This record gives sequence, structure tokens and C-alpha cells, in this order.
Amino acid sequence: MRPLRYTRPETLEAAIAAFTAADAEARYIAGGTTFYDLMKLGVERPTHLVDVTAIQGLDVVDTAGDTLRFGATALMSDVAAAVQDVPVLAESLDKAASQQLRNMATVGGNILQRTRCPYFRNGAGPASAVGVYPCNKREPGSGCAAIGGLDRGQAVLGTSAACTAVAGGDWPVALMALDAMVELAGPAGVRSLPIADFYRLPGDTPHVEFSILPGELVTAITVPATAAAQRSTYHKVRDRESYAFALASAAVALEMDGDTVAKARVALGGVATVPWRARAAEAVLAGATLTRERALEAGRAAFADARPGRHNAFKIPLGVETVADAVMIAAGRTL
Ligand SMILES: Cc1cc2nc3c(=O)[nH]c(=O)nc-3n(C[C@H](O)[C@H](O)[C@H](O)COP(=O)(O)OP(=O)(O)OC[C@H]3O[C@@H](n4cnc5c(N)ncnc54)[C@H](O)[C@@H]3O)c2cc1C
Repeated sequence: MRPLRYTRPETLEAAIAAFTAADAEARYIAGGTTFYDLMKLGVERPTHLVDVTAIQGLDVVDTAGDTLRFGATALMSDVAAAVQDVPVLAESLDKAASQQLRNMATVGGNILQRTRCPYFRNGAGPASAVGVYPCNKREPGSGCAAIGGLDRGQAVLGTSAACTAVAGGDWPVALMALDAMVELAGPAGVRSLPIADFYRLPGDTPHVEFSILPGELVTAITVPATAAAQRSTYHKVRDRESYAFALASAAVALEMDGDTVAKARVALGGVATVPWRARAAEAVLAGATLTRERALEAGRAAFADARPGRHNAFKIPLGVETVADAVMIAAGRTL
């Protein structure tokens, strides 16, 4: 048995102080819906947990102004209920996990969830420090069993020779499409950064997943309230219609001028190593008269640089159709 300290501070300052006073294996914890799993699997081995759910004011949900604001410990279910007039946000939350999980999980924990790559998760039993399968994300420098292995669920975009693990979250894909900002607080003070800079491509350091400094915690996520946010959708394709991660998904938000796309925002999930902004797809749509063929062209542009492995090439045509369907669904939304 390994000793584990647990604290539940009520202020931001006390949480940061508790984290920095602990040793290098301290971790923040919120709903615990994914972190405790990783501890049981032996992937995460903290010696000190700092629970952020009692921090006052960190669960605020404010959708009244020009900027939507979601405190890090706001529950996924509460945020989903508050953003029903922003379909891409609401659908990305409503289609994630299960109602029970959404009632427990926080939107801050959601953007920090780690990959569901089976080699990352299932290689390390409680009795093993290294794990059965090599995984560069779990054990830097050990190799990647997914490359050349069972890679049906792996990424086809943003991969590297060190890692093909897919980013599984839905809400981060919607946030990526809407240019959300992530607010952080830590020993060196507060800062905010675009969500596109929050996620790190695997490159040759796949264990470095987020632009987060030691001792920093996520305090809030903000989203500009644009017109496009309302003419939007999160379209998710999975092995079963409920309670499953995406095989391919697309978050699309459109500004329309009659039948012409004035501006498009497109992001992809289930197919890339990070929530993936598809700028090439946006360029195909911008200024175009919207037709199904044009939407398919946007989908093909989104996957032009895709690199499949042994068993996941199906994600490319599936992803193209997913983008096209999402574009047509978003365009059909009435404001
Ligand atoms: C069976 C199952 C199915 C699921 N299906 C889906 C799905 O379809 N789509 C989807 O998007 N998600 C899915 N999930 C993932 C789920 O959405 C996440 O588990 C949840 O959002 C994590 O939130 P949490 O508050 O429980 O985070 P925790 O488990 O508490 O933490 C997650 C990570 O975030 C860190 N952390 C938490 N809060 C902070 C903070 N404020 N600052 C810094 N670090 C922090 C923790 O250290 C940890 O690394 C599924 C999970 C399960 C168990």
C-alpha cells in the first residue's frame, strides 16, 4: 500500500500552497471520474491529492454577457443546461459520457482528461511501475505499442513517430471551434491562453500534453458569444449511439449570408492527437455557396494530411462525411 495525502482547501491560494508544499507527485483533483481510474490502473501514482471542488467561486457559470464564463469546477450537466442556445457547446456536453458522470465531472477536469489509448491505460497494472506495454506518454522513451499494433481507435492527424494516441474529449473540440480561452492560476500568478495553445502535439514528448506549469490549476474557461456560436452543432459518430467516445466528430459554427457562408469554424474530435482545428476546411467554406458537395470538399480538405495506421484508415472517409454532415446540420439551424 502506498500512502496518499488528501486535502480539500476552500480558497485558490490555499490550494496552490497545498500543491507547492507537497512533493512532485501532487495532483489536483475535481470530480475524480477519470483520475481515480488512472490511479487504479497504476498510470497515475500521486502521493498528494489537492481537491479543488470546495474552492469558493470556482463553479461559476455566467452566460449573460458577451463572454460566456465557466468556472473550472462547474459540472458538465450544469453547464450543458446553461448553454442550450449554443448548440455546439450543449451537444458536446450532452453527448459525452453518461448523465451520472456528467453530474459528477467538471468542465475543467474535462479539458484535462488524458487519452483513452488502451496501451496508455491498460499497460500498467498496480503491481507494475513500467507496465506491460511500452507507452511514451506513460513512460517517456519506452516506445509506442500502438504503432503497428491494434490501432483502430488511434489518431490519423497530429501523430508522431512517438505517439498516435487520440484526444478523446468532446467539449474541448467545441471550445476549439469557438476560440475559447483557458484561465490558470499558480505560484507565479494568473494568466490566460487560447485553448489552441493549451494542447500540445505529441512530437517526441508525448508525455507533455498541456501548457500548464507546475502548481498551476485551471480556474475558468471563457468563450466569446459570437453569432456563429448559435448556428452550430457538435456531430459525434461512435460505435454505439450513447455512452461511447467518438470515432469521428466535428464541431461546426457558421455565419451565413443567405446561402453563402460568411465565416466557418470547424474542429475535429476522435481523429487527432489534440482537439483539432480544421482551418483548411474553413477556407473551403468561406465565401462559398453552401451545397452538400462543397461541405464534402471541406471534409476532404480537413483530412488532406491524415496519416492512417494499420486498422484506422476508415476514419478518413468517416471523418469527411462527419464534417459534411455537421456543416449541413449547422447551416440548417434557425436563429
Ligand atoms: C466511462 C466513461 C465514459 C466517458 N465518456 C466520455 C465521452 O464520451 N466524452 C468525453 O468528453 N468524456 C468522456 N469521459 C470523460 C469524462 O468526461 C471525464 O472523466 C470528466 O470530464 C473529467 O472531469 P473530472 O472533474 O471528473 O476530472 P478528474 O478526474 O478529477 O480530473 C481529470 C484530470 O484533470 C486534472 N484536474 C481536474 N481539475 C483540475 C483543475 N481545475 N486544474 C488543474 N487540473 C485539474 C486532474 O489532475 C486529472 O489529471 C468518460 C469517462 C468515463 C469514466
